[in-house]
Amino acid sequence: MALIVQKFGGTSVADIARIKHVATRVKHEVEAGNQVIVVVSAMSGVTNQLVDYCNEVSNLMTDAARANADHVIAAGEQVTSGLLALELQSLGLPARAWSGWQLPLSTDTRYGKARIVHIDTKSILDSLAEGTVAVIAGFQGVSPEGRVTTLGRGGSDTSAVAIAAAFNAERCDIYTDVDGVYTCDPRIVKKAKKLDKVSYEEMLEMASLGSKVLQTRSVELAMNYRVKVQVLSTFDERPADQLPGTLLVDEEDLVEQQRVTGLAYSRDEARITLVNVENCPGVSAGIFGPLADHGINVDMIVQNVTEDGKQTDITFTVGKADLARGLEVLKTAPGIPHYETVHTDAGVAKISVIGVGMKSHAGVASEMFRTLAEKSINIIVISTSEIKISVLIDESYIELALRALHTVYGLDAVEEQSC
Ligand code: ASP
Ligand code: MG
Repeated sequence: MALIVQKFGGTSVADIARIKHVATRVKHEVEAGNQVIVVVSAMSGVTNQLVDYCNEVSNLMTDAARANADHVIAAGEQVTSGLLALELQSLGLPARAWSGWQLPLSTDTRYGKARIVHIDTKSILDSLAEGTVAVIAGFQGVSPEGRVTTLGRGGSDTSAVAIAAAFNAERCDIYTDVDGVYTCDPRIVKKAKKLDKVSYEEMLEMASLGSKVLQTRSVELAMNYRVKVQVLSTFDERPADQLPGTLLVDEEDLVEQQRVTGLAYSRDEARITLVNVENCPGVSAGIFGPLADHGINVDMIVQNVTEDGKQTDITFTVGKADLARGLEVLKTAPGIPHYETVHTDAGVAKISVIGVGMKSHAGVASEMFRTLAEKSINIIVISTSEIKISVLIDESYIELALRALHTVYGLDAVEEQSC
């Protein structure tokens, strides 16, 4: 008997009709002879609504306030887990709803973005052994202080993968409103193709570079624990074993390695340039240290030293929401090196080319730069890793750039010939 984890996202449980549909998917796995743990998100829109309520009541950013906010925000998943368990019972399947604290799924105390520390499997295993389906509220856990925590937006993916790892599940099926992971966002690039397989490393880059299909941390966990994760469509009526989907695999299991597997983009970028910073040891630490201390995540960085070597311009990117706070830190934090002026631009975007094939194929970067040049798109900052190249460009060129690159790297779906 195999143990399967099925995770259903917000759109999959958006209303009662969909919850009933999800229940038939669960029933199918049970009837196939599997033990099933289900992890659910809140009904779509509900978490946003709960976050809005909290913001209406309070703008306190203290840990104590965040802990109370988590108590509210975690409620959406409790509702769906209960409703799905009720529906399963109506179908004649023994089922029980679980909150995070009841397992317990233990986290640290970072309210609003807690990390999972341990998952106690005993109670659920006992319940599964009695033939009961476990329906667990995703996105939530409990801190050592006994308070409800949440794992960051999109965190029910992370709950599902962590639970699959803790229970050594045979599969972790992530059901969502798309039928898999695509070479690029199909809303922008019409010719994007679904990938049958993608390596953990590539998926990790895609998730952190802007593809919203899976929460980044869930991919990290899946990679570290080698969890067999599949992304599947809830709305495709076929049973799980016939759904096309996308499977996360080890790099070695990719039969043919393309030069480029996919493209990602993020509009959530803002550029800051510090002009004429004095160029001496410790300036970077003097700038990026205080930003980090204020929880501001810096992404791309480039530094140009003047000809005489005495001064340097430092350009870097932060999330749009951090721009104002970042500037404040640069103006007020003690120890920031002297600079002449600061320029900012919130109208920028990052586009990235990703693929494990880059390790063995030369020329991927030069092809990217040439393609963008041909479209007269200026590159503001470049950053690379072994399997990705990212560039910062003017936001208004995102679509043009992605479509051109998609074609150049041979990713376009072949149109079906009509006769
Ligand atoms: N309901 C939570 C959110 O909207 C968690 C999730 O859906 O993964 O962020
Ligand atoms: Mg999600």
